[in-house]
Amino acid sequence: MAAERDMLRLDGQVAVVTGASSGIGAGAAEALAEAGAAVLVNYHSDRDGAEKTLKAVREAGSRGFVMKGDVASEADVIALFDAAEKELGPVDIVFSNAGIQKDAAFTDMTLDDWNTVISLNLTGGFLCSREAVRRFRKKGRREEISRSLGKIVFNSSVHEVIPWAGHANYAAAKGGISLLMQTLAQEVAHEGIRVNSVAPGAIATAINEEERRKGEKEMLKLIPYGRIGDPLDVGRAVAWLASDAADYVVGHSLFADGGMRLYPGFIGNG
Ligand code: NAD
Repeated sequence: MAAERDMLRLDGQVAVVTGASSGIGAGAAEALAEAGAAVLVNYHSDRDGAEKTLKAVREAGSRGFVMKGDVASEADVIALFDAAEKELGPVDIVFSNAGIQKDAAFTDMTLDDWNTVISLNLTGGFLCSREAVRRFRKKGRREEISRSLGKIVFNSSVHEVIPWAGHANYAAAKGGISLLMQTLAQEVAHEGIRVNSVAPGAIATAINEEERRKGEKEMLKLIPYGRIGDPLDVGRAVAWLASDAADYVVGHSLFADGGMRLYPGFIGNG
């Protein structure tokens, strides 16, 4: 019975995490495993990183499997879900996380910079969530492990709402994820599928290594809570969104940002 279960646990469930060889994807794989889910650890090029994530999943007491794949490729995304089902079982949770930055001043941004970021950060999210919904429908509901038929969590960003000069491709993709998430949530909620996003602020990962090296002090001025986040800060928010503890949370962006979107420039009277 659902009422007797610990609503935060994900025991018996299978999660697919894209871009899980480093950073937030690795943190989320670990947090999902801590909560009891088996995890398909997707990577693009860093096999060693993916193996490290798999080790963390196992140390957390869960099963896992490593699978290479480009989330901007339809065939690779389908193969990813096939592998998850074959190796771990029917998929209950998808964390669509993979994403990159290719920054440039607007007039210096090449079409390739634009297309690469949009196809991974936005179209990749479309491909993964579409496949997730198709698979959820096939597997059917398993009330004994979750109240919902399936859970999708996108990795968005504070830049789904905060404009970001010099990063037009990235901000456009994250703004797109926001309405993709809400539209999909609206479309499939009646089937028992919950779709949400986590929207991180500044998290210490490879994506912003250079910015942190050059200007961590400046970055901290943008974070009222006074620290840069770590991957597990976001990973645990993902595990919560995927759990029955969040069963009535539908179409929501959960900001895990230390308050970054709260107009920190206004602290001290603006
Ligand atoms: P990261 O560079 O550590 O992780 C990016 C991951 O995406 C890597 O594991 C990489 O291998 C994978 N990847 C790249 N291309 C891929 C492809 N074609 N197919 C599959 N995987 C691919 O950086 P991160 O910060 O952990 O980034 C993860 C997500 O978090 C991104 O969507 C990013 O936009 C988002 N995010 C990060 C921050 C932050 O401050 N770090 C803030 C907000 C949002």
